[in-house]
Order: sequence, then C-alpha cells, then structure tokens
Amino acid sequence: MIPRIRETSPVQTVYLKFIEILKNQGFAGDLNPDYANRTVLATDNSIYQVLPQGVVYPKHVDDLVLLAQLSERDEFKQVVLSPRGGGTGTNGQSLTDGLVVDISRHMNEILEINQTERWVRVQTGVVKDQLNAALKPYGLFFAPELSTSNRATIGGMINTDASGQGSCLYGKTRDHVLELKTVLLDGSVCDSAPVDDTALAALRSRADRIGQVVRTVDDIQREHADLIDAKFPKLNRCLTGYDLAHIRTDAGEFNLNSILCGSEGTLGFIAEAKLNLLPIPKCSALVNVNYRDFNAALRDATELMQAGPTSIETVDSKVLNLAMNDIVWHSVSEFFPPVPGEDIKGINLVEYTADSDEALAEGIKRLTDTLDAMNDSLRESTGRIGYSVAMGNAAVGKIWGMRKKAVGLLGNAKGEARPIPFVEDTAVPPEHLADFIVEFRALLDSHNLAYGMFGHVDAGVLHVRPAIDMKDPEQEKLIRIISDQVADLTQKYHGLLWGEHGKGVRSEYAPKFFGELYPQLQNIKAAFDPHNQLNPGKIATPTADLSLLRIDEVTIRGQQDRKIAVEVWEGYAEGMHCNGNGACFNWNPNDAMCPSYKATRERIHSPKGRSALVREWLKQLSERKVNAVQEAKTNRERSFVSSLPARIKNTINKKRGEYDFSHEVNESMQGCLACKSCVGQCPIKVDVPEFRSKFLELYYGRYLRPLKDYFIGSLEYLMPTLARVPWLYNGLMKPAFMQKILAKVAGMVDSPLLTGVSLDNALRELGVRYASAENIATLSDEQKANTVIVVQDAFTSYFETDLVLDSLKLLKILGFNPMLAPFKPNGKPLHVHGFLKAFAKAANNNAKMLNALADTGIILVGLEPSMTLAYRSEYQKVLGDKAPKVALIQEWLAAQDITEATPLFGKSDYKLLAHCTEKTNAAASIKDWQTLFGALGQELSVVATGCCGMAGTYGHEAANLVTSKKIFSQSWEAVVTEPANKGKLTATGYSCRSQVKRIQDQRLPHPLQVLLGAYQG
Ligand SMILES: Cc1cc2nc3c(=O)[nH]c(=O)nc-3n(C[C@H](O)[C@H](O)[C@H](O)COP(=O)(O)OP(=O)(O)OC[C@H]3O[C@@H](n4cnc5c(N)ncnc54)[C@H](O)[C@@H]3O)c2cc1C
Ligand code: SF4
Ligand code: SF4
Repeated sequence: MIPRIRETSPVQTVYLKFIEILKNQGFAGDLNPDYANRTVLATDNSIYQVLPQGVVYPKHVDDLVLLAQLSERDEFKQVVLSPRGGGTGTNGQSLTDGLVVDISRHMNEILEINQTERWVRVQTGVVKDQLNAALKPYGLFFAPELSTSNRATIGGMINTDASGQGSCLYGKTRDHVLELKTVLLDGSVCDSAPVDDTALAALRSRADRIGQVVRTVDDIQREHADLIDAKFPKLNRCLTGYDLAHIRTDAGEFNLNSILCGSEGTLGFIAEAKLNLLPIPKCSALVNVNYRDFNAALRDATELMQAGPTSIETVDSKVLNLAMNDIVWHSVSEFFPPVPGEDIKGINLVEYTADSDEALAEGIKRLTDTLDAMNDSLRESTGRIGYSVAMGNAAVGKIWGMRKKAVGLLGNAKGEARPIPFVEDTAVPPEHLADFIVEFRALLDSHNLAYGMFGHVDAGVLHVRPAIDMKDPEQEKLIRIISDQVADLTQKYHGLLWGEHGKGVRSEYAPKFFGELYPQLQNIKAAFDPHNQLNPGKIATPTADLSLLRIDEVTIRGQQDRKIAVEVWEGYAEGMHCNGNGACFNWNPNDAMCPSYKATRERIHSPKGRSALVREWLKQLSERKVNAVQEAKTNRERSFVSSLPARIKNTINKKRGEYDFSHEVNESMQGCLACKSCVGQCPIKVDVPEFRSKFLELYYGRYLRPLKDYFIGSLEYLMPTLARVPWLYNGLMKPAFMQKILAKVAGMVDSPLLTGVSLDNALRELGVRYASAENIATLSDEQKANTVIVVQDAFTSYFETDLVLDSLKLLKILGFNPMLAPFKPNGKPLHVHGFLKAFAKAANNNAKMLNALADTGIILVGLEPSMTLAYRSEYQKVLGDKAPKVALIQEWLAAQDITEATPLFGKSDYKLLAHCTEKTNAAASIKDWQTLFGALGQELSVVATGCCGMAGTYGHEAANLVTSKKIFSQSWEAVVTEPANKGKLTATGYSCRSQVKRIQDQRLPHPLQVLLGAYQG
C-alpha cells in the first residue's frame, strides 16, 4: 500500500500571510497556495523547475493593484512576484520561487474592436489565436506570429516582444503595440502611448512612480543616444529587454512602451493593451523548394529573397521526418511529394501573400520562373532538387500549422536524451546565417549531440534543440559549456543569443551583450522596481550589488527527475517526457485537445498538469523509498479483503480532512475524460489515460473506491444478463426518483436504457450468423474472401442495437457476407478506472477469442471508435503483438471496391462529427469516411469540433455533469443547433450521440446509418 504523503514543501509564512491579507482585502480572483498548483506552475518549456510559494489568478486590474500595493509594505518587501501568461517561455521567463501571478485564467477578454481605425483593446490574458479568430469576421488580424499562437497570451508576447514567421514584413509585437495599461509596483496604473515633448514634460513632472520612471528612461535616451546607436545590432531582432534603441519613435515621440515590450515581467503587470491591426491578405501561397543539403537551403535563402516573398522558413530533414510520423502529416502530405531518386535534406517554405489572385500569381511566377529556368549546373550549385506549390489560405494555413508544431516535435525524440531549449533561438544577420550554422553545427558535433534545425532564414533566426539527458549530471554540465560557446559565436557574427524567445535565465549574458549600457538597464529596473520584487534575477538587477540568475544555479528539472528510480521512470514513460511546451493548452474550442482544461481553465486539469503532478508524486514516493512499479505488482497480489480494514480507516481519515498529496493528484486525474486527445495531439505523445490508470490503481490500493467505479467496471459483464430482462432493467432505471437515487448512491446520472431488441432474433431475421468456428468452417474460400466479422462492444450492442443491425444490413447491400463476433467484454471501462488487473484478464480473454477468429483469415472490424482503438493501444500495452487486429469499419470499407453499388444510393451531402479518440489517434480514418461516402456518390465534409463532453461514462458520472455540459456548450452545441445542419449531421461515437440525445434531444445517426438511409431513400 502506498504511504500517505503527509508533507511536501511548506509555504513560507510570509507568503501565507500575504495571501491571507489579499483574501481579507477582497482579492476577487483565485488564491492557490496548494501543492498541486505550485507544482504545475513550477515549469514552463525550459530546462528549469522552480517551485513557487503559491499561485494567484487575478480577476481584474483592481486585483493587480491590490497585489502591488501589498507588496510595497515593509513587511512584504521580501515577497517576489512573477507575472505569467501561457507559460510557454523556453528559458524560465515566468518561473519564480515567490508568487506566480497568472493573468491568463480570468483576464482574457477582448474589450473593444475598432474596425475603421483598425485597432483592438484586450486584456493581456487573451491568447493570440483567440484574438485573431475574433478579428477574422472584420477582415483584420494581429500580425506578429509565433509558433505557440494557440496558447501564448498577448501579455506574454508583449513581454518577450514575440515574433516569428513573417517578421521581415510584419516586425515584432512591439511594432503593433499602441497603448498599454500597466500596474506598477506602487499600485499606480500607468497608461502609456507615444507622446510628444509637451506631454512628456507633464509626465516628467509627476511626483509618483510614473514620473520617476519616465524621467529615468528619458534621461537615458538623451544622455546615451550615441552609445545606444552604436551598441544595438541592426537586426530584425534587436537587443530585446530593455529596448533602449526605440525609446523615441521614428516620428521623434517618447515611447515608454518600447521599454515595457520585452521586459519579461520585470517592470510591471501589463493588464491591457491596445493593438494595431492589419487587413488579412486576401490570398496566399507557398512555394516549397526542396534541397539535397540543409546548408544549401540556408545559403539559397538570400537568392530566393530576390523574388520578393513575404517570408521564408527553412526546415531540415529531421524536423520533416518527425512531422511525417505525427498526426499533423495527414493534413500536409499532399504538398510534399517525394523527389524520385533524391533524399530531401532541407526545404525552404517561400510564402507569397497578396490582395488579388493576379498579384499573387505574379509573385509566385517571379520565383517559379527562376526555379524552372535552372540548368544542371545551377541545380548542382544551389542544391535545389525540385519544388511544389500550395495555393490558397487553407493550404498555407495547414503547412504553417505543421511548421508551428515543429519545435514541439523536436522534443519527441526516442530515448532519454531529449532535444531541449537553451540556445534555440539565435539570430545573426541573414547573410551570415549559413556560415554561422556551419560553425554552430561543428560546435554541437564536437559534443556528439543530435539535433534538428529549422528557422526563419529571412530574419537570420535559427531554431535548434540539442538532445541531452538532463537526468544525467555529466550531460547537465553541457548546458554551461555550450551556452558560453554559442554566446561567443553569436557575438562573433554580430548576432544575438536570444533572437526570438526572450532572455529569461539567460539574462546572465546581458551584461556581456549590452556592455557599458548595462548599468542603464539597472537604472530602469530600479525606477520601476527598486526592491527587486518583480521577476527578480532576469533582464537586470536594480543595483550593482544584486546579481542576475545564472544558468547553472537555478534548479533544473533533470535534478528533480533523477530522484525517481529508473524502473519507475520507465514504467511511467508515457507521462515523464512532457516538456511543458503547452500545446495542450490549445485555446481553440473546435480542437479536440484537452476538454478538461478548456472547461475549467485550470492548468492542473491539463495533460501538462497531470504529467507534472504524477512526476512529483512518483518523486515523493521515491524519496520515501517506495517504488510505484513494484508497489503495483504487490497490490495486484494482495487480496481485496485483507486490505479492506486499512482502506476503510484511511478513507475515514480522508473524509476528516487528513492531508495526503495523493488526494491532490487524484483530484486532477478525476477531471480527465480519458478522451485520449493528448495521446494523439501532444507532440511528445504524453498519454494521460495510461498513467492515470496506474495512479488510480495505487491510489485505490490505499483508499476505498467510489461505488460508481464498480458499477462502470462491471457494466460490460452485467449487460448480457440484464439484456435478457430489459423490462426489468429499464423499469428500474427509468423513473425519475430512481435516477435521483442512482445519482446519490452510485453517483451516476442519465444512465442509458437498454433497447430491448434481441440480437439473436434480429440476426436470424437478417440471415446473419455469429462468427463461430463451426459457422466459419461452412464457408467456401470464395465466401470467406467476401466475409467480414463485426466485433461487438457493449455500448452499441445493448444500447444501440439498431446500429449493429443497420451496419450488417448495409454490409449486405454492399455485397459482403457479414458475421457478428460473439460478445465478450472489451475491458476498456476497467482500464479507464484503473482496474488494471481485471483489464488484463478481460483483454486476454477477449483477445483469445478474437485472435482465433482472425486466424481464419477473415478481417475483423469494429463500429465504436474508442472501443475498437483500444485493441491497438491499451491492448498492445498488455499483450504486445498478441493484441488482436481489429480495424475501424471505415478503414476496411474505404479499401474495398464498392463502386458497383453506387447507383443504388440517392445523392446527398452530410457533415461528419468524428469521435475525439478517432480523429486524434487514427486521423487517416476520418478521410476513410470521406472516401467511403465518395465511393457511394455522397458528399461528406468534416466539421471541426472539440469534445462532446460525454467520453464513455464521464458525462454520466454525477460529479462531472456540470463540466460535461459545459464542454458540450463550448463547441458541439452551436453545430448541433445550427438550422442549416438539420438532417445533415452524423456522428461516429456512441458517447457523442448519447450526449446530443440527452442535451438537445436530437438523434444523430451513425455514418453507416446515413448510408443505409441514402440507399433506402
Ligand atoms: C514550442 C515553442 C515554440 C515557440 N515559438 C516561438 C516563436 O515562434 N516566436 C516567439 O517569439 N516565441 C516563441 N516561443 C516562446 C514563447 O511562446 C513566447 O515567448 C510567448 O510570447 C510567451 O507567451 P506566454 O503567454 O506563454 O508567456 P509566459 O511564458 O507566461 O511569460 C513570458 C514572459 O512574459 C511575462 N508576462 C506574461 N504576461 C505578462 C503580463 N500580463 N504582464 C507582465 N508580464 C507578463 C512573464 O513574466 C514572462 O517573463 C516558443 C515557445 C515554445 C514552447
Ligand atoms: S502534455 Fe504534451 S502538449 Fe502538454 S505540455 Fe506536456 S508535452 Fe506539451
Ligand atoms: S485524455 Fe483528454 S481530458 Fe484527459 S488529459 Fe488527455 S486530452 Fe485531457
């Protein structure tokens, strides 16, 4: 039995007091000094892990003012605060051992859009893609781009002066900031915008912190203008944080925002921003130029720039190969056909944008004419081996989507040495990039490191993440060695170490890059934050006696991870490699990634949160000399009854409020829908349901399980018996008072009712036989070749029996001889709830039967996506290659020649709502539905949606009802209630259909039922 984790790192008294006073003074947001929140916000995407004392989530500007004013009190001068947005920093930008002020949870409203004057005013917790989605109907967009646009906030972008693809045309975030509202540490609210000298004089004369700040910054600009001019590199990415070179605008106005942009949370809380907008280019295209050598791609970029593109991005073969093995490839593969006889080692993605098709065609032609005109010798010297063109905003969007995912994908290497960020965003003048990279590569090669590369070649920015196992103390030393070497190399090429992602802990190198100007940065810091309370140790210290953080003195995550025994680390591999890139915080409600985070906006309810918590839990157990993997084995051998008294006692103590860190982990795990979107979409393939099951198994080895778990776990076993007396089951379940009792006693709501249709009788009527050895033995070889076995699952067979029958009917119409596999429990509900021993038994039993059927050479197919996909996922983990091969029915049907049947079907168009597990874990199978419909003369478009909120039995659990409905409202509701969609929608998931039925009282057909309908007219 796992021990109680009674004590973790206690919160310092001064912070507890600080939080207490905040509460008493009416702080409206959330105050979280709990260990779960602290653990989850102890990391970003960097190599560091710094445990904060607590996390606060302000609701509005007044909360920020309260925080600032309190921190000014003498008793709280040692309290430090670090603002945080999406937490996607790659160098510890938002990490602190003080208090995290997470602005993203509540302060995320778009306040005002002015279409005529082309500006928008937002709270800074707004995510960049959220903003652009809201602006789209106005034909406008916020231009600065970044790979993390689906989770990075405007506050984070402003504070790192973010930029990315397209920066040569669109510049950086700073270039689009019109006004800022910032809460300074004395509690004053500073509204800043470029001002002329008269307004400046008025600001200078103010007696408060604002006056002091303005005087300091203005004096620096006046007194050091020449030095600033000489020192700042003339790069697309200049010396971010603090940007002395742009204190005066081109028009000569004083602009405090230049200092605030890129200040990495060290000067104030930026609460609101007014941002400049641009019209969305009407059309765009990408010319994808292939090379036989990555260096050739880099060198060629300068030549390609002559053809006047909007931007050029380069990716190397490593990145390309990683993308090929990811779900993202399905959306872009058509644009990257292989080059016969050649190995593509690099690609330049050359973008053209325009306001008319003619102008776009003209731009593309400039480039393609040059490419077409190449003779053999030019081909040899440039390394170009062909190109393809992707036309239109939709195609371009897909390719940029792939490119955006590239940084994350780099983390998905095999083995323990993982690509990590620390020198990942160098910038040099573009004309030096190729030479710089030759030296950079030599440097990494001299340390025998693997790495992938890509970057914005037009801006001279290179992204590289060397693969290092940070759990190994020897390899950890490379961070210092390589950082120093790369810093020198960038200086040699007149470039920057922090070309894009900000400085963070790398601020250590700032004095070296800023030279004599560094004391001026300190003066600025001192004016804003005299007591070094805001994100201290980054960018600059307020006084010379205080020092910046050093890259090898901040706690590194690997140092924590190495406390977990290797066997345990490997036993929980599906969660251990999360690198915090935050792709699971995807804002888009119509994207499947992670419904529990979307509904709660609590980071502990995200894949990253769950990975961080389970990692910490394993570490805590390891520190108590408990090996979770061994413990699971012992647990399975222990009898249920012998541990009962202890579990009862522990549960009573739990109810009395006894602390155990495992409860915090459990809370986070309970929020998971086990939808598996993380498995398919996380670039690192973090598999929450897998490690969640392992956690639950151990947690309930110590505490009593809720009754509902037994109810759900036994459902598949009870169904065959209950189905014989549907009148009794339905009679008991249907009445409202029974539903209430069930909710109270068993924790289940809206339990589905049995259809009452006898499969045996219906099969007989249909002339379909069960797939038994005897029945198969009667088939001729020809009949066998035409036979397909439909594998049952409890949900479809007992709650949607019609669907089984309709599918069999359709298969017959299409000319096949369908057979139905006898029912055996699949075991997936057991897996979901952590009954892993019982699951293994169920999987073995079921596999034995299915494998015997498969041995006859007949194909097995399943109707229910999540139950069917379990055979290639959960089953594989238990049975390895003995897991039965069961295809999704559309995977098999799409490969059959059924075109002869086409004339039998009436023509219509439909819209597919795919199941989350299916679209994220078997993405190609969604196209299979389209192929199948196309072959039968139907049109099928795929509707982008998030999760429906049901996910197996999640939505039927009373404790999840509110969240389940909220998830439905975030994406599905609008689609299902849209009048234009009436009669057109079809859904593949049993859960999805039952959620629509219970919330909207609408019955959505399965795609096979739609086809049957088209046949029957
Ligand atoms: C896979 C990956 C790809 C990336 N690609 C790019 C890229 O293409 N271009 C790019 O520029 N960056 C990139 N980054 C870095 C990162 O996404 C950006 O720096 C982004 O702007 C950070 O936004 P955030 O909301 O996550 O901020 P956080 O990481 O939470 O914070 C960043 C900094 O801003 C401060 N801050 C945040 N909000 C506020 C506020 N309201 N007031 C005061 N201070 C605040 C924090 O204290 C911190 O110092 C990438 C990161 C990852 C993981
Ligand atoms: S779970 Fe995956 S997507 Fe989320 S932060 Fe971790 S690695 Fe990134
Ligand atoms: S399974 Fe679904 S709900 Fe659970 S963490 Fe993964 S994406 Fe989130």
